[in-house]
Amino acid sequence: MERGLLAVISGFAGAGKGTIVSQILKTHENYVVSVSATTRAPGKGEVDGVHYFFLTQDKFDHMVSENEFLEYASYVNHSYGTPRSFVEEQLNQGKDVLLEIDIQGGRQVRKIYPDTPLIFITPPSIDELVRRLTSRGRDSAESIARRLQRAAKEAEEIEEYDYVLVNDEIEACTERLHAVIQAEKARVNRRQDLIAEIQKQAALLCNPS
Ligand code: 5GP
Repeated sequence: MERGLLAVISGFAGAGKGTIVSQILKTHENYVVSVSATTRAPGKGEVDGVHYFFLTQDKFDHMVSENEFLEYASYVNHSYGTPRSFVEEQLNQGKDVLLEIDIQGGRQVRKIYPDTPLIFITPPSIDELVRRLTSRGRDSAESIARRLQRAAKEAEEIEEYDYVLVNDEIEACTERLHAVIQAEKARVNRRQDLIAEIQKQAALLCNPS
């Protein structure tokens, strides 16, 4: 079984990356999303085990000490991490695994799997970001202010990514994400088994036994 592709999707809080990721899961086969653990409290409408595993700091620290995270980082005073076992199992089953994580996590994943594509999703403008962040009704005014400060820093880090996708319209952005992932899966360095098989068969055309 061919191993699936691991891809990192980041973006400013409020860029709509969660919406794009759920849309790609609905409209295309073979994708799964990793559910992260976090120590922040659930926001409005967020369900434990679906949007995040909401953990105490103690439980989170215990998982760190047991090496149960593929990567983990601190963001706006809380801890966030990707449980390792789910990701490994899904990749081994040939699924394409999306990690909705920040650049600190992206850097750690790249150290372990250097050919992981890093994809950044941005809203069309910062005005639009402010509008989306305030209208989604999930964060307090203080949390919004912190997230916008964080966005200013993240904007400086976009060049570390391989791809930048503008979320101007959900369906269009989802299709762009799918196209990027399919292109990554077709890279020659990922298709060594296929190439070896084709070469073997082609060689038999010249030297049939
Ligand atoms: P939020 O609290 O808005 O859901 O997420 C805050 C930030 O943490 C976002 O940039 C999100 O992508 C990032 N994040 C969520 N889960 C993880 C994770 O498991 N690891 C890392 N490094 N970042 C995460």
